[in-house]
Amino acid sequence: MTTNAELQQRKERVFARGFGNILQIFAERAENAEVWDVEGNRYIDFAAGIAVTGTGHCNPRVTAAVKEQLDRFSHTCVMLTSYESAVRLAEQLTTVTPGDGQKKVVYVTTGAEAVENSVKIARAHTSRRGVIAFRGAFHGRTMFALGLTGKIAPYKNLFGPFPGEIYHAPYPIAYHGVTVEAALEALHGLFAADIAPTDVAAIIVEPVLGEGGYYPAPVEFLRVLREVCDEHGIVLIDDEIQTGFGRTGRMFCIEHADVEPDLITVAKGVAGGFPFAAVVGKAEIMDAPLPGGLGGTYAGSPLGCVAALAVLEEIDEKNLVERAGQIGALFGRRLTQLREKYPAVIGEVRADRGAMIAMELVKDGEADQPNAELAKALVGAAVDRGLILLSCGVRSNVIRIMPALTITDELIEEGLGLIGECLADLTS
Ligand code: PMP
Repeated sequence: MTTNAELQQRKERVFARGFGNILQIFAERAENAEVWDVEGNRYIDFAAGIAVTGTGHCNPRVTAAVKEQLDRFSHTCVMLTSYESAVRLAEQLTTVTPGDGQKKVVYVTTGAEAVENSVKIARAHTSRRGVIAFRGAFHGRTMFALGLTGKIAPYKNLFGPFPGEIYHAPYPIAYHGVTVEAALEALHGLFAADIAPTDVAAIIVEPVLGEGGYYPAPVEFLRVLREVCDEHGIVLIDDEIQTGFGRTGRMFCIEHADVEPDLITVAKGVAGGFPFAAVVGKAEIMDAPLPGGLGGTYAGSPLGCVAALAVLEEIDEKNLVERAGQIGALFGRRLTQLREKYPAVIGEVRADRGAMIAMELVKDGEADQPNAELAKALVGAAVDRGLILLSCGVRSNVIRIMPALTITDELIEEGLGLIGECLADLTS
């Protein structure tokens, strides 16, 4: 039998050390919210391939759609010889996204590419140079997206210089003492000291700061951003790559704030595990680039298109948006009980954005004393016990939970039990 250890050794010989390597287990098969490794060990999956398989691993509808497509053709290039599924999906994406006006889409392959293209579109529309992002944001690893990303280690160090005309403002995080007022004041400070608002093409925001620590943006902050963009003719880009497709208990997270963005970037959960990403936005903005200015060889792969259509059907038929809210509520109750048991190390539980749940680990119960060591140890202890967990956060001290929206309550309870056991061990 091949072991995880053997494969890890082989992997380390041939993969560059900079290539992310979170857990040292090797998947053999996966089903819904469970994964089995090459040694036959079974894991409860609280990470869903980093918020991707929202409809579960090997979702039968998604798998059947892709198999059927594979027998017909796997690639013709959507820019060259398009297909009905690409058009049907675009019709649906322009319908399920917030806003009643006419919308259009462009397809790409990864989240970072969607972000890059959203900026290109905003610049073409406004003829302006500046882009404002937020500290702690994650928008991808390609050069412009990385410039927008607001976290140094491990993403940005060694890779500069970054593209110019990118400005970072603080993200409002109550737990760390950054109020909405303070964040807005800093944004206006940027306008006074660094770039005039009339030179800003776009503001890009994650409605829940994702890799940066799973901090939901207060709804009033998103509403004021909308007002600021309207006042100055700035394009509001809503990065829903991690938050989209039902995960937060709304189809798109920004709907919690009743805000209509100008452009939305989507990837990850949209195609249930197949590489597919898109920018969806107001038609008059989306049409600013000239013909041929946007695209990509694998953009809108037919496999991704049929997978995404199947995902949308699953979300609708199984009421997964509503289910995400129930998942958040269940985790919220249980993790709050755990926090009462371990108040010195669980600083805050965040579970009011559906199945995007966080537990921030600290020392002595103090928000400003991050406990990255415990977060790392917990991820390690969990995988040893059969639970896939992930951490995140600018200070690497947040445990984030983003399971498939099809996960059962029984699996959730079992996984929570394992978290409890790990914490008991690690804090004794
Ligand atoms: N934006 C957000 C909010 C993300 O969470 C991610 C991925 N974690 C990206 C962009 C980049 O997506 P990709 O890894 O597909 O390039």
